Amino acid sequence: MPRWMRHLIRPAFDPAETAVRQIERLGFTREDVRHIIVTHLDMDHIGGIADFPHAKIHTTAAEMLAAVVNPGRRERARYRRVQWAHGAQFVEHGPGGESWRGFPAAQELTAIAPGLVLIPTPGHTRGHACVAVDSGLRWLLHCGDAFYHWGAIDGRAAIPWSVKAMEALATYDREKLLENRQRIAELHRGDDHGLRIVSAHDPADLAACVTPT
Ligand SMILES: [Zn+2]
Repeated sequence: MPRWMRHLIRPAFDPAETAVRQIERLGFTREDVRHIIVTHLDMDHIGGIADFPHAKIHTTAAEMLAAVVNPGRRERARYRRVQWAHGAQFVEHGPGGESWRGFPAAQELTAIAPGLVLIPTPGHTRGHACVAVDSGLRWLLHCGDAFYHWGAIDGRAAIPWSVKAMEALATYDREKLLENRQRIAELHRGDDHGLRIVSAHDPADLAACVTPT
């Protein structure tokens, strides 16, 4: 990870926080993980996939083109081929599908299990997607990097300059990013208590992961 990125997002390089260690603490083994659905293939989102060589990695066909098959000049700088060099078993999901709560084309991944929905939301990257999960109690919408800070969705808090800078640097298509963010904001304004929306980088969402709410 480049130094500027480390400075802006300040990841905790603690082996105890890796996905494989957290899963083991829940009483499972890495072999129990058969499918991983990623929002996108940026380096700070797939650092742990090599720990699960038996798992299928699900992503959009557009993200596969951007990261693996035919990356453009700027895209080559954001992805790290070494992260899938162990022979990651990618499963691509093409465009199309049914509407899901305001998004025009989503796909329920019933081949894995019911209640898992891949929702293409390009903008941050060429093939970024949100992932909706039916937890049984309520739906969870993992928005990945579709927004970095809740201020961009509800406008209640100022967005720190460092977050704005990071987001601007990482945006592939600003028009699509804002279009999809608008859909997320409308979903939030709809006040659907059955839906919890989370972002990958918002500090409040990260804190809630440590102390579940
Ligand atoms: Zn990203």
